[in-house]
Amino acid sequence: MPKRHLADLSLPERVDAVRELGEQPFRAKQLSHHYFSRLSADPEAMTDLPVASRERLAGELFPPLLDTVRHIECDNGTTRKTLWRAHDGTLIESVLMRYPDRTTVCVSSQAGCGMACPFCATGQGGLQRNLSTAEIVEQVRLAAAAMRDGALPGGPGRLSNIVFMGMGEPLANYKRVLDAVRRITDPDPGGLGISQRSVTVSTVGLAPAIRKLTAEGLQVRLAVSLHTPDDELRDTLVPVNNRWPVAEVLEAARGYAESTGRRVSIEYALIRDMNDQPWRADLLGSLLRKHLGRLAHVNVIPLNPTPGSKWDASPKPVEQEFVRRVNEAGVACTVRDTRGQEIAAACGQLAAEE
Ligand code: SAH
Repeated sequence: MPKRHLADLSLPERVDAVRELGEQPFRAKQLSHHYFSRLSADPEAMTDLPVASRERLAGELFPPLLDTVRHIECDNGTTRKTLWRAHDGTLIESVLMRYPDRTTVCVSSQAGCGMACPFCATGQGGLQRNLSTAEIVEQVRLAAAAMRDGALPGGPGRLSNIVFMGMGEPLANYKRVLDAVRRITDPDPGGLGISQRSVTVSTVGLAPAIRKLTAEGLQVRLAVSLHTPDDELRDTLVPVNNRWPVAEVLEAARGYAESTGRRVSIEYALIRDMNDQPWRADLLGSLLRKHLGRLAHVNVIPLNPTPGSKWDASPKPVEQEFVRRVNEAGVACTVRDTRGQEIAAACGQLAAEE
């Protein structure tokens, strides 16, 4: 883990930290404003603090977290993947995507991933370590600053959406991810002030953690990576299914949907001749109707290629038939517009290699 950073701390904890450093408590608010509102961690810019305090406080509370290794772009620059190096050499990636009506950053919650889904590049390398709260928040702050500064074509803009769909399983790094969600959504000077409804947490389906998340009473969107409605195939596609099978995951998702009133996204990477059969579409439809009713939205993701995998996306007519059948069962289902395939930035392609 990196050294403690301001973004690891709640506002009251920041006040304590500042006090312990022999400074006035109100400095906590000033530092928070610099970081979360002005999106700056540069002590030089903190001209409302005396020079000596500035150096001491910044030295203690803004340790460097992420160095840019490189940016790679596609879609005329509106999709940008960044490779970051953490203090200990760990590599992670995040992806910024600008659309006409919104801008989304896809952040990593772990370096690598321990879930071992065989069709996902991140899963192939195993888990290196959890990211700290501040390392997660820093990906968002830097994305927000890039948008404000007009780093993407289209001029200055605003970062509107955060998705925990980068490297890692967010709910396997529960406490740090939840703290990061609070830093992202708390109003100034506590956090970045982005609405909870604009944050999506995606999970392979760690049922107990979904139930815990439900009890937090947040309004974030939940996405569940289901990929098939039957336990037999899911045991191989999403190995944690051996622990928490489909019915239990969907019951946990139902609990979340009912308590928030928000639709749960069901992610379904469509793989040729694996999970794309008409009968699986029908089974998916009936199962989701039973567990979630109108509170489900299926996102079909045409499988993105990953190194060494023999699997492939389904042919378009098969995909269309799949979507049609799920909709026919009364469950909303659309194909996700996936970005960044040519720069290995799309779903399941993040490997953070130099
Ligand atoms: N671990 C979390 C967060 C990652 S989100 C989760 O699994 O939900 C990344 C999404 O992309 C997941 O739905 C994942 O299953 C999906 N995915 C992984 N590999 C993929 C691939 N090769 N093509 C399309 N989607 C993929």
